[in-house]
Amino acid sequence: MNLHEYQGKEILASYGVGIQRGLVATTPEEAVSAAQQLTETTGTGWHVIKAQIHAGGRGKGGGVKLAKNLDEVKTISDQILGMQLITPQTSAAGKKVHQVLVAEDVYYPGASEPKEFYMSVLLNRATGQNMIMYSTEGGMDIETVAEQTPHLIFTEEIDPGLGLQAFQARKVAFNLGLSGAAFKEMTRFVTALYNAYVGADASLFEINPVLKTSDDKIIAVDAKVTLDDNALFRHKDYEALRDLKEENPVEVEAKAVGLNYVDLDGNVGCMVNGAGLAMATMDLIKQSGGDPANFLDVGGTADAARVETAFRLILKDPKVKAILVNIFGGIVRCDRVAQGIVDAYKNLGDAINVPIIVRLQGTNADVAKTLIDNSGLNVLAATAFEEAAQKVQEVLA
Ligand code: GDP
Ligand code: MN
Repeated sequence: MNLHEYQGKEILASYGVGIQRGLVATTPEEAVSAAQQLTETTGTGWHVIKAQIHAGGRGKGGGVKLAKNLDEVKTISDQILGMQLITPQTSAAGKKVHQVLVAEDVYYPGASEPKEFYMSVLLNRATGQNMIMYSTEGGMDIETVAEQTPHLIFTEEIDPGLGLQAFQARKVAFNLGLSGAAFKEMTRFVTALYNAYVGADASLFEINPVLKTSDDKIIAVDAKVTLDDNALFRHKDYEALRDLKEENPVEVEAKAVGLNYVDLDGNVGCMVNGAGLAMATMDLIKQSGGDPANFLDVGGTADAARVETAFRLILKDPKVKAILVNIFGGIVRCDRVAQGIVDAYKNLGDAINVPIIVRLQGTNADVAKTLIDNSGLNVLAATAFEEAAQKVQEVLA
């Protein structure tokens, strides 16, 4: 599950990580009163208005703007709220902005120049360890830094059993070229950030930029956070942070009815029982020249109601040109599934406007095939895996 910047910052602050403070607003009026409230607590007159969407690169798309007075807070919020924000990380259509974060301006001039760093804590699946990735080149895409100046990116592996060691936090601060008060502040920042990552059961905390202010405070100006869905049961309070508006609507609907659905870009919808068979089916579709439009595991009970719901979900995708149903009848009987498909097809009527290829294998597969062959519907039955692939190829041609 991904979080908004303001939500990520709230978690960071609760672990003692220094943050750029702010308040979230959904109307320009709320933004103005948020700015007034912030001025009272922080004393700063300037504010940054930041679009809250689940995508980075907002600054480049015009979703992060500096407001020098309350009038500007109002006009800029008015402009950003409701806009379709396009960034290098969104689709071409962009994402609609429903809320903005009104934040204190932390780039105030002072004794020295503010300096931006990059820092993330993530799971390194290759080594099975947690990793801090950091760089002196903050504020820009880390992908660009990796391409052009890879020697300016450092990594520190952390054994999850031992946790972050004090010498490792010092090494990070040292490699970032800090000394004195800023060095100490950075070791505290890194330690608190790592604690937040572990405590929240996150798989990513990306802070770009981490800012050294002109008076040597180290703070998180941005926060991109991904929580591990498999650990959400340990954090009941995080469920409220989910923003369904940011998630794929078909995936949300599938989850609500207990189906395991992942939206993909291809043209062949698939409905399979079992995650492993679903993966193999996606490979099969690729081999036969198609592209899977989704991953869908209907689970062990492929009854008529479930099959019908699954068809409805798959058909919401206008790119779907054919549907491949691949069911192994181990626990379920193939003839039951076949009857379910026939019933669902009849119920859905005109909604089904693409050919369906059904491969049923296992208990009563022969009875199932006869049932489908005699149904008179635009459904092609197959028993062998390759035969199903061949039929997909034929209907796509
Ligand atoms: P992103 O574009 O989605 O990564 O959003 P960020 O939160 O990283 O903001 C984009 C950029 O806006 C940052 O890299 C900063 O350069 C700038 N920015 C953020 N906060 C402030 C601020 O308080 N004052 C000023 N002057 N610039 C800021
Ligand atoms: Mn950023």
